[in-house]
Formats: sequence, C-alpha cells, structure tokens
Amino acid sequence: MTKPTNGRHTVAIGKNPERSREHNRRVVLDIVRRHGSLGRAHIAKLTQLTAQAVANIVDELVDDCFLMEVGRLRSGRGQPPIQFAVNPEGGVTVGVEIAADHMVTVALDLAGQLRAKSVISLADTTPANILSVFASELEHVANLARTRLLGIGVVMPGPFEVDGMTSVGPTTLSGWAGIDAAKALGEACGRTVIVENDATAAAVGERLFGAGLAISNFCMVYFGAGIGLGIIQDGTPYRGAFGNAGEIGHVTVVPKGRPCPSCGQFGCLEGYASVYVLREKLLAHGVSGTTVADLEKLHGSGHPVVEEWMDEAVIHLGPMIAMLENILDPQTIVLGGALPDAIIDDIIGLMGSLPTSVASRRQRDIPRVIRGKTGQLTAALGAASLPLFDMVTPKLETSPTASQISI
Ligand SMILES: [Zn+2]
Repeated sequence: MTKPTNGRHTVAIGKNPERSREHNRRVVLDIVRRHGSLGRAHIAKLTQLTAQAVANIVDELVDDCFLMEVGRLRSGRGQPPIQFAVNPEGGVTVGVEIAADHMVTVALDLAGQLRAKSVISLADTTPANILSVFASELEHVANLARTRLLGIGVVMPGPFEVDGMTSVGPTTLSGWAGIDAAKALGEACGRTVIVENDATAAAVGERLFGAGLAISNFCMVYFGAGIGLGIIQDGTPYRGAFGNAGEIGHVTVVPKGRPCPSCGQFGCLEGYASVYVLREKLLAHGVSGTTVADLEKLHGSGHPVVEEWMDEAVIHLGPMIAMLENILDPQTIVLGGALPDAIIDDIIGLMGSLPTSVASRRQRDIPRVIRGKTGQLTAALGAASLPLFDMVTPKLETSPTASQISI
C-alpha cells in the first residue's frame, strides 16, 4: 500500500491487474479533465500508456459516460484526431454542509458545475433528526440534478474526538459526541459518505471554485457558528494527524478572558470573533432571526451591535492573521463562510494595517487578507468536491481518506 507523505501521496503501480486498470482510468480521466479536451495520441504521450491501452480505456470511459467525444482538432495533414472531454452528464457528486443551525446541499457535475442546491434551517441537530433530514435532502438534490449519483461528501464542524472539546457547546453539533458520523450518515443513505472538517472543506471549495483557483498555498479563516481554519499547502489540504489542524477558534487570545461557549476555557478566539457571539449579542438586544440575509440587512442599516462586534472581532483577528502568516507562510489568507460579503469586507477594512509578520512585503501580488469568492456555499462545494477528486485523482489506496485526495 502507498502511504501518504507530508500530506501528499506517491503513486505506485500495484501487481493487482484490477487495481492497475482502475488506476489507469483515473490517470486518463485526470489528464483529460486538466487539459479540457485531448485526442488519444496526446493522452498516450502524456500518460506514457500504450496507444492500445489508451484506446481501450477511452472507449470504456466513453461507454461509462465519464468522457465524451467533442469533435476533431484540425492539425497538419491527414485525418484530424477525435477530441475527448469530461462528460458533464456523467454524474454528480453531492456535498452537504451540516452546520449548527442550517444544512446546505449541493450537486456538482463531473465538470465541476453546480447542478442543484438546497439550503434549509435546522432547529434540532440531534443525530436522529439530522440523519433523517440528511437522507431526504440528499434524495431531493440528487433528483434535481437528474443524473446518477457518484459520491457524497459531508462537512461538519470540528473538532473531532478531542476530550472535553468534542461536539459540545453551541458552535458544534449537540448529541454527536462519540458517534461515528461517516458510518451513521452512510447507513442513513445506504452509500459511502466521506466526512470532513468544515473549515478544511471550505478551503478545498475555495481552491477549486473561488479565490484559491490560482493559489496553491493559502489559509482560509472560516466563519461557521464558530471559527475554523482550512490550510491548503501545495494544492493539498493539510489536515493534521487527526483531522483537527487549524482549530484556531480555541486558541487563547485573552488570558483569563471570557468563558468560551464551546470548550469551557477562557479567552478563546470564538468568544470574541465568532458568528455565535454576534448572534448572542443581537439576541440580548431583542434581535432574533439572524440568518446570513438577516445579518446583511442589520449590517446595511448600521446596527450598533453588529458594528460593536466587528470592532471587537478585528482586535483579535489581526494578531491571529499575523500569527498564521508567521507559522505557515501562506500566499494569502482568505476570510469566508457564514457571513455576508459586506461584513467580511468591513472586517478586512477595519483590520487596517496588520501587525508585521513574514508576510509584510512591499511587493505583494495578492493582499495579505482577501475575501473568499464562494460565499455561503463554500463548505458544501468543498464537500462535493471530495468524492469528485477522489474519483478522478490517480491513487492506489484501497480505503481512501480525505487526506489522500490531491487537488
Ligand atoms: Zn474554546
């Protein structure tokens, strides 16, 4: 078996012919996806497979609706070669974000296009309720997409399996402590489900569809109900040994400060800069109903509680940004998640001149902090791309985990 090294995987050809065949299919599908369209001879040259092998694999992939013919490319003398491209009708992967108060479900086709989406509020996050809502939302969105379902990715707020920090508190999902989420969700829908931390999936979503398209090293500060960090290193998510890397919400920013709503420690970042705290403050002023759309209206009308929360949040986010830069040296830090664009833009503006860090350079192509481009769908898009890239990325692992998915 090939072991991932430093978050990347090496590819080796196994002796098992079935595995080699599967591997070669992934290689061909991946090379066509990356190039848009290619002819057989070109595929053979790029993959170093024999012309006969490529012809067989391409025929098979066309029969299976993963590839399609897209005409002939005029070049030089003789019959122009037939070009092949990924078939968007070949199927969809569904991504589901299960957050503390809502569920977002999206379907992406093989070309990475959004085919269907659904956003619903959640009042009850207990496993019994979530599992039944998950199964019906999955069916609903898969039906809307009107093509076969190829895989399912789910994101949930972390951290996972940490004593005293697991699924407790209002920024995580109550009642999920000790439950194997992937297994329970898989049983609820009768299929394999890949589960990932929401901030990591959001970063994958930005890498594939948003601000990270042209950037291979970045961090994403993700505003769920709490605050998480997704890390993309050399185009690949960095997850840590237990999938909990980037749990910045529970970094102490004020020693002996406010009690943390989730972990019971004092002075955590989540106690100052999270959407949960913003909602609590609004509730204390008699404002309930705080969806992203509600927050956008409140912010637009200059609501003093929103202004006050932003002023306090940036005091703690600025040094956190500089610390992340000093530790990880990213090209940029992306802010995104369950906040309206206008609030994120204001936060970036209010942070003003950030503390000096290794990222302080006069010649910068990208600002130190930018807003994400995929908005509220980012985590769900990232979730949908987990099985998508698992499917097209060459690898020989028999039991893939999210850490082996190269993007
Ligand atoms: Zn905490």
